[in-house]
Amino acid sequence: MNYDFLSPTQIVFGWGRRSELGKLAAKLGSRVFLVSGSRTLERIGVIEQVAAGLDQCGVKSERFAAASREPEVADVDLLVTEFLKRELTERDVVVAIGGGSTIDLAKAAAAVVRNRQGSSVADFLEGVGRGMQITQPPLNVIAVPTTSGTGTEVTKNAVISSYQPAFKKSLRSDLMIPRIVLVDPELTVSLPCETTAYTGMDAITQLIESYISRRAAPIPQALALSGLKLAIPALPAVVRDGSSRENREAMSQAALLSGLALANSGLGLAHGVAAALGSHCRVPHGLACAVMLPTALRVNMSVRERELAEMERLFDNSHSNDMESAKAFVSRIDGVCRDVGIPPRLREIGVTIDQLPALVSGSRGNSLSGNPRDVSDQELLEILQQMW
Ligand SMILES: [Zn+2]
Repeated sequence: MNYDFLSPTQIVFGWGRRSELGKLAAKLGSRVFLVSGSRTLERIGVIEQVAAGLDQCGVKSERFAAASREPEVADVDLLVTEFLKRELTERDVVVAIGGGSTIDLAKAAAAVVRNRQGSSVADFLEGVGRGMQITQPPLNVIAVPTTSGTGTEVTKNAVISSYQPAFKKSLRSDLMIPRIVLVDPELTVSLPCETTAYTGMDAITQLIESYISRRAAPIPQALALSGLKLAIPALPAVVRDGSSRENREAMSQAALLSGLALANSGLGLAHGVAAALGSHCRVPHGLACAVMLPTALRVNMSVRERELAEMERLFDNSHSNDMESAKAFVSRIDGVCRDVGIPPRLREIGVTIDQLPALVSGSRGNSLSGNPRDVSDQELLEILQQMW
């Protein structure tokens, strides 16, 4: 067996530890581009507090607002243009505070601004770009997630959307893993319950898909099991009561583990289709993953019965064989989806029946290539028709 395992240089985890951001930034540079996406954190003064903390450590900061949507090509290009108006040096640090969208935007801009052979981030995107590569190290990035979901704070890619033409593709390079990740679960307490549910289901989908991926490897698999053990009980509880410190910490931990796992194992069918649901039907990423997850598990059951059974045994050891355990695990996931308010049908999330063929072609990408078994276009169309 051969494998590589990549992760950020430093992971700082803990309730309230955003107070250490100034010290961490001062290790990497003297000026910070603070990219923030959360209006709520802005309103309750957290961003102000963070900027003051940087100031106290002798780090100048400039603020850039991220739009509250999944980043589009034009958003990245605009931020790159803004960065380029400053005289950039090695001592500039990008601090991204927000959900996965904000962190992806910041990671992409930090990379493109240092790799100017392309005119737009679109030139670098997998499958649709001009095949340009990130060869120069990006500006140093410190990622501070404010949701417990995407895990993008520890991954080597940034997902960028386009609607005309419709695609959702990655900018990817080993160089793009943020240098420092600061996970302060207290930042997630103000999340509305719908966002908590969607982002949490994204983390669960990432943990499971990386565990059964055809590129699965021992370290990410160990991380995925630890994450699932935390997330499966914590998510329904935290959707009911968002103020629970214990459950918020569990979800932040699980999301972090899901990012480390997916960055080193890849994903599968649910994420493949979720990309198409995002670009063709504008379904939020976490919701799209959640709707697809139970079906993706049933589709892969025949080739991953043992792994699904292993995941079930984290919670219940009483089934008589792998087949029973694997089925029980899928029912368990159905139950979590129901508990946190995920509708089971595509038509309930705004998909029209005539969009299904476009969803099939839009699903072919890096995620689907990790799915444990091949799924033909015809089979995928039938799967989506049944789910509609
Ligand atoms: Zn995801």
